[in-house]
Amino acid sequence: MSLASQQSSQPLITSVFLDGHSSHRALSQALLELNQCGAIYQGDLDGAVTDITYSVVKNLGVTNCQIWLYADNRRTFKPVAQYEAMATETLPQVINVADYDDYFQDLGQRQWLVVNTDDSNSSTNSFGNEDDLSNRDLARLPPYLQEQAQSITAFIEIPIYHDQQIAGILCCTQHHTPRVWQSVETTFMITAACFVALVISHASQQQATKAIDKYKRKLSLKEIERQQAEQAWQESQRFIQGLLDASTNILYVNNFVNGANYYVNSYMKTILGYSPYDIQQFGAQFLKQITHPDDIQNLHQARQQLAQSSNGDIIENEYRLHHKKGGWCWMLCRETVFQWNQDGTPLQIFGTATDITERKRNEADLQQKNQVLTELAMIDGLTQIANRRAFDDFINRAWADRTSAPLSLILCDIDCFKLYNDNYGHQKGDTCIQRIAQTLKEAVKRRPDLVARYGGEEFAIILPNTTTEGAKHVAENVKTAIQELEIEHHYSIVGRYITLSLGIATAMLRNEPSPHELIAAADRGLYRAKSNGRAQFAVGYINSDDA
Ligand code: GH3
Ligand code: MG
Ligand code: MG
Repeated sequence: MSLASQQSSQPLITSVFLDGHSSHRALSQALLELNQCGAIYQGDLDGAVTDITYSVVKNLGVTNCQIWLYADNRRTFKPVAQYEAMATETLPQVINVADYDDYFQDLGQRQWLVVNTDDSNSSTNSFGNEDDLSNRDLARLPPYLQEQAQSITAFIEIPIYHDQQIAGILCCTQHHTPRVWQSVETTFMITAACFVALVISHASQQQATKAIDKYKRKLSLKEIERQQAEQAWQESQRFIQGLLDASTNILYVNNFVNGANYYVNSYMKTILGYSPYDIQQFGAQFLKQITHPDDIQNLHQARQQLAQSSNGDIIENEYRLHHKKGGWCWMLCRETVFQWNQDGTPLQIFGTATDITERKRNEADLQQKNQVLTELAMIDGLTQIANRRAFDDFINRAWADRTSAPLSLILCDIDCFKLYNDNYGHQKGDTCIQRIAQTLKEAVKRRPDLVARYGGEEFAIILPNTTTEGAKHVAENVKTAIQELEIEHHYSIVGRYITLSLGIATAMLRNEPSPHELIAAADRGLYRAKSNGRAQFAVGYINSDDA
């Protein structure tokens, strides 16, 4: 319970107030009580100043005691406590420091202000600034007392110090009756002012402690938030890492300029045998170092495309990459720039590499099978030389490839073959056709030439880059080679052995619209050879009906 609360609102009459003066012993006792005032040590400013002002009024027997403190950054001066033994004129609520420059400057320079009123009109106090109010010099009253100037007869004003500067004042006033202060009373006031300073000090210390506690709590909250963020980040890292590791693609992040690897997932080891450490050891351009020499050009092109790409573009390419233990794996690499320099050039690329070795193997198998099928489709089953389809294909290509060179064609037809079949049997006929085909093939040795079975017992020889004279030479060779086979044909109207009739035609650049004209011309030559008695060759001419 505070001292003030023990006091009712009754006028103050105390045993220590004797003959207008306080007793030394009572004042000492009062100070001892204040010294035990809990509010002071708890930093309870309101409680403590109430107790102190009450104690001053009670123990000094003064009319009024008030405490004023600077506020608003020392711009104003405000009352924080007041205790009155009897009602006096009201005090101002606030004083603007700037309005009373002289007073506040003076306040900083003196230790206390003691003003007496003595009936004999003489000063009796020996402390600090002493004065006498009997002349009623209002201008010399502190500003906060000026409202009460008419009733004040004496006062003591003690500055309160905090942090080595004046924080405010403790003031007691005597009204209506003269009063001459004893030194013990001034000392009491000085001590009381020290108690006010003490509670201010405790209060500010508590404020500081509270601020520190608040700051500590804030810090620990921040730390918790940081730890939670860190935990969330680690969890997301683990999640991403899990995804990366579960991927059945190689994932990598490379520096675009020097090709150094920043990241590669564990699937690299599964597919190509390299650990992330192995990749680090490659240093710059690791991808280039494991790319097949024949695919390096592709790699360069992909880099150029990336340099010109826009955000989100994916550049796709297939490379053979070297396995750590040897051999090559076909990989489909899909790359995109995911970080750019400020000047717009790529900084980092993200890539995925999918193992397509199996697919490539299947493709190669298929290609090979297709090749076989194609070849089969181009080969005559009976004779194993090019068939009519191959002939058509070849002559069209040879026609298209012609530059300024002539293209010759020889059509060959076995003479009196129906009679051969009829007399020796169809099987023998087949064998005969086979032998003739082989002989033709052997007789026509030049690489660009083609020998094909044109149909039935007819053959065609295409001679690119060959004049009529050259074709005649080939025809002669063929005729001779067949004769030398000496396949007996007793039923031939030509002789004892199988013979051929041959029609030759040559396409020169100036006179032929299509390969059909060439074939027709060769056919005309063949017809002439037959007409002229068989076992010979004759030339047919394009754009001529001359047989
Ligand atoms: P020419 O001297 O005028 O050419 O008389 P030719 O008997 O050879 O002519 P023709 O066109 O009358 O008869 C061709 C014969 O060739 C008819 C056919 O029986 C035979 N022939 C066609 N293809 C084959 C074949 O694949 N095997 C056999 N064994 N005979 C065939
Ligand atoms: Mg025929
Ligand atoms: Mg014939």
